[in-house]
Amino acid sequence: MPPRRRHELPPTAGLPLRPGDLRPGAPTLAADIAAQLGTPPLQLECSGTACLLIALTTLSALQPTRRRVVVPAFTCPLVAIAVHAAGLELQLCDLRPGHHDMDPIALRAACDERTLAIIPTHLAGRVADVGDALAVARNVGARVIEDAAQALGARRDGGSVGMTGDIGFFSLAAGKGLSIYEGGLLLAREPELRERLARTAARIVPNRIGTEWRRCIELLGYAALYRPAGLRLAYGRPLRRALRRGDPVAAVGDDFPLTIPLHRVGRWRQDVGAHAAVRLPAFLDQLSAQAQRRLPRLRRIPGVRVLGDPPDAQGTWPFLLLLLPDRQHRDAALAQLWSSGYGVSRLFIHALPDYAYLEEMVAAQDVPHARDFAARSLTVSNSPWLDDEDFETICRTLEAVLA
Ligand SMILES: *Cc1c(COP(=O)(O)O)cnc(C)c1O
Repeated sequence: MPPRRRHELPPTAGLPLRPGDLRPGAPTLAADIAAQLGTPPLQLECSGTACLLIALTTLSALQPTRRRVVVPAFTCPLVAIAVHAAGLELQLCDLRPGHHDMDPIALRAACDERTLAIIPTHLAGRVADVGDALAVARNVGARVIEDAAQALGARRDGGSVGMTGDIGFFSLAAGKGLSIYEGGLLLAREPELRERLARTAARIVPNRIGTEWRRCIELLGYAALYRPAGLRLAYGRPLRRALRRGDPVAAVGDDFPLTIPLHRVGRWRQDVGAHAAVRLPAFLDQLSAQAQRRLPRLRRIPGVRVLGDPPDAQGTWPFLLLLLPDRQHRDAALAQLWSSGYGVSRLFIHALPDYAYLEEMVAAQDVPHARDFAARSLTVSNSPWLDDEDFETICRTLEAVLA
């Protein structure tokens, strides 16, 4: 068992804020990111989940007879909550065996003339197969929403993710790269759809000064504590407490509220995001270089698979997503590493049908590959604070567990 690290490493590589980011500036966050990504204008919303809710509400008004939304059975519980909040029906699609993409055969079986949208998901910064979702969607008359919550900056064929489907969204939540504590960016290829998304937001998103004030204070706390010395308090302690009481869902923060707060993002948080965004391209390059250096070491460990990208894609690397041979080995590795402060964690704890608190909105369904993925996966932080010595400690621990 590796010694507990004195300072805590974050499970994902967020872009650290600097004191200078907190000064007033220009609220150009959405425009600056659009310029960096080379996309049409982006619409700033209060969360990735809010973006999805706005997207679904917009599409649902265009095709009111279609009520079904097809999502991968292993994804963020917030996706299920957004579908429910939009008054739509969740249709799960199982994964390809040992892969984060939806299974092409299961996807075809899940879609018909009742399908409103399909949501391929760029999980962990890995670039998803949007082309297949698009082919199926076009066939049944549905739309594609790319969930790029974890993949701001990922590219395929030289263009940003989110531009192949009809709509895409990124998350600016704490721990997902560039953060204004909570936020999201909404993207659509066609100008007409962009206009509709903006009109939906104008209609359903209120100004809530109280909520925005709270987010400002949370953002200050994030700026202060998102560093190895502060993360023990903000992340490590609650994590260990949740693990001690046997609650892994709380340990990774999968226990989301069932209502989605909607409000407009205030000017100051946009200023902060715009200051930090200047450093984003170099930060993403640094993470990518670090991942490329570390992938071969991990892949040499017998029994470890690290998920990568298709040949024409360049994903982002907030963390490395690993599959171990079975649940026993995965759990043995986590028993040594999860609470030791090395930034080793899990992505989502369950396949969507297995969260007790989502019972009302997710129908029971047999999704063996999603369950297998949940049982065998773990994540290794790609934070620059995780130095080569820490990384070697993680690799040696995995080797010992798998020997
Ligand atoms: C985090 C996340 C979301 C929701 O984004 P928020 O900004 O946290 O609301 C949606 N999908 C996936 C895959 C996510 O990881």
